[in-house]
Amino acid sequence: MIRRSTKETLHPRNRFRDGYDFPALLARSPALAPFVAENAHGDLGIDWADPAAVKALNQALLRDAYGIAWDVPAGYLCPPVPGRSDYVHYLADLLGARAAQATVLDIGTGANCVYPLLGASEYGWRFVATEVDPVAARWAQGLVAQNPAVAALIEVRAQAARTECFAGVVRPGETFAASMCNPPFHASARAVATSNLRKRRNLAGGRTPPKAPRNFGGTSSELWCPGGERGFLLRMIAQSAARPGLCRWFTTLVAKGDHLPALQHALREAGARDVRTIAMAQGQKQSRILAWTFAP
Ligand code: SAH
Repeated sequence: MIRRSTKETLHPRNRFRDGYDFPALLARSPALAPFVAENAHGDLGIDWADPAAVKALNQALLRDAYGIAWDVPAGYLCPPVPGRSDYVHYLADLLGARAAQATVLDIGTGANCVYPLLGASEYGWRFVATEVDPVAARWAQGLVAQNPAVAALIEVRAQAARTECFAGVVRPGETFAASMCNPPFHASARAVATSNLRKRRNLAGGRTPPKAPRNFGGTSSELWCPGGERGFLLRMIAQSAARPGLCRWFTTLVAKGDHLPALQHALREAGARDVRTIAMAQGQKQSRILAWTFAP
């Protein structure tokens, strides 16, 4: 018997809430077949420790749900599509009536360009997608060009300064319904390497992990920045306060719950009028969106 694990913790509008229908996915995306096998419980699944398998699943899911053609260069971050979709749906809830015809700023879109591709497909939002890594920015641009259904909605802009969120990428007079961001998490390239090793050990059930493909699960430049997640977001808060009218809602993922008190304190000091924390759960993993506005 083939069971499907549901993902009830996902947003009610998340298209991936009913789990993965592997037989249907395989029928439409034969390229996924080499990566799918039955596990000990008789469930079909992929090897989550194999980046090629995760990528093939993403390609099948994005094609199935949205007709999107998608790929990432070797070594670049391969996002779990169901989890990334949740941010887009919760952002739509936050925007309410403003979600219609919204223009959104995605800070650090990655080579994968996942939020603009999802937001444009799901809600018809326009995006300005920024990226500091030139290889990732070029790749994201290529993905946009390959998807005519959303190409006119997404503009990728290169950011030259790692420590700037808005300066250098937004134009005078430009405004957005919201900004969104999945910030670099680690504070150094070394911390990225240690965390990757730990992740691979966990996936290998505590055994010595198989030899890793270089930069498993993301390049180090994608995954770290000065000050890590906390430093990045404290800069973002200060920079948002310096241009409070740029976005109706400034939002970001916060991976580490422990960072919230310092960020909320910084937002109060910066004069934010409304600050919200939106909890998200993807299976065991807890995450949250932090959102703030300076609008009356
Ligand atoms: N949004 C993608 C990628 C997140 S990783 C996803 O969710 O999968 C964070 C990304 O932000 C990396 O690609 C990194 O290169 C980029 N980045 C880091 N600092 C930045 C900055 N100041 N402006 C724009 N992009 C930045």
